[in-house]
Amino acid sequence: MTVKKLEYLIIGNSAGAIGAAEAIREADTAGTLAIVSDEPYPAYSRPLISDYLAHPGPIDRMLYRKPDFYEKNGARAILGDKALKINPDARTAALASGLMLTWEHLLLATGGTPIVPNTEGIDLKNVFTFNRLDDAKAIDAAFNPHRRLKAVVIGGGLIGVSVTEALMKRGMDVVIVEMKDRILNTILDEEASAMETTALLLAGVTIITGHTVTRINSNLRGEVSGVTLDDGRLIHCEMVIAAIGVRPRLDLVTGTGIKTGRGITVDRHMETSEKDIYACGDVAEAFDFVTGNNRLTPIWPNAYEGGRVAGLNMAGQPTEYKGGTAMNALKYFGVNVVSAGLVVSPDNSYETLINRRDGIYRKVILKNGKLAGLIYAGDIEKSGIVYNLMKDGADVSAFKQALVADDFGLASLPESLWRSKLARPAAAEKPAAAVTGH
Ligand SMILES: Cc1cc2nc3c(=O)[nH]c(=O)nc-3n(C[C@H](O)[C@H](O)[C@H](O)COP(=O)(O)OP(=O)(O)OC[C@H]3O[C@@H](n4cnc5c(N)ncnc54)[C@H](O)[C@@H]3O)c2cc1C
Repeated sequence: MTVKKLEYLIIGNSAGAIGAAEAIREADTAGTLAIVSDEPYPAYSRPLISDYLAHPGPIDRMLYRKPDFYEKNGARAILGDKALKINPDARTAALASGLMLTWEHLLLATGGTPIVPNTEGIDLKNVFTFNRLDDAKAIDAAFNPHRRLKAVVIGGGLIGVSVTEALMKRGMDVVIVEMKDRILNTILDEEASAMETTALLLAGVTIITGHTVTRINSNLRGEVSGVTLDDGRLIHCEMVIAAIGVRPRLDLVTGTGIKTGRGITVDRHMETSEKDIYACGDVAEAFDFVTGNNRLTPIWPNAYEGGRVAGLNMAGQPTEYKGGTAMNALKYFGVNVVSAGLVVSPDNSYETLINRRDGIYRKVILKNGKLAGLIYAGDIEKSGIVYNLMKDGADVSAFKQALVADDFGLASLPESLWRSKLARPAAAEKPAAAVTGH
């Protein structure tokens, strides 16, 4: 067993890890730093795995940073190796390869893991999840160039719709089976969800809502031959993708005493209940500026920003996380949608303003004069301004109707607001989320 002593150890090598590594190097150019990932690739954009599946090829185009990132930042990249156990008292991390790392400051940026339904047949060949580049590669390897195949996607959330678009681009027939009454139900309201549904149906996707898959059936060769739904219906298919959700990857903290809720609980410095151990990204329950509480907000920009804050604090620069919220910018099947914060009013203490016409839908939700949520579909050009107003906690009561107006823009705001907070380049008018779909 080799023991390596490090000032900084980051477990995970994605948005949160890269944000942290960059921040650490801004504050400390010398401290020893290692980044460990059980994936064998340099950091890549996870949202782009659907692009990879649609058009397989070299992964260079999906790399998040240039290949020399680690060398340039004096970071030892330990890729394709898994951290099996951490010991907060001894400050060690044991890796599957036998390497033992000791650290002064540790960041857990371990992300999420797909929830696999306990359905009969889930272990059959050609049943996949869709969370990593290797999933996209495995699905690609299952294609048959000589036959038009059919896939059943279990779950009509962001990942389910994302993989559906990629499969359709590869010429497959796709059936989405969604348990709730509409697709994308956690990130869109009924109306925006209906716009997406129409686009999917027009593209030829079959959508079954209000049902679930109770069994995955196989032929005599042990391959997927179809699924059985809860109402007894049989759907023939050669492939199944389970996309029912992702949960924080908590295995490393289980039994350590580090405080968890649904994810690892962190304070506004992204520090866990254990001194010098930080967490960020999809694994962390961090501050949400809309709800004012800690919760999971598993999106790329929040992971990166949380990682930056963790990195600065790890390197001795006290920095507070301003908070993130659930925010998504989608372009599935050609429909542009941005949603953030609440998408449906929880009760009538909230005010909802809507403007809909000709395939354009704008909705904002207000509480005590401040924005608590937004959906812009069809035309998302100015959604970034509204998102920033929400993030800044601006009182919008004096101009609330303008937020959903056709001609809304910076000029609609009181001068004091746009001068102090919103005079950003035009490119910043759309929220800085990774846009999914094409
Ligand atoms: C198909 C898909 C589409 C998405 N689309 C969007 C989008 O459009 N916009 C958006 O904002 N977000 C999107 N997301 C979510 C976004 O990708 C995540 O929020 C983001 O990747 C979280 O980053 P992270 O750093 O927390 O961790 P992750 O990206 O989950 O990475 C964690 C890494 O840590 C590694 N790891 C975990 N445990 C260990 C261990 N014990 N030892 C070694 N390594 C370990 C994992 O293998 C993984 O490589 C999408 C996600 C998916 C799957």
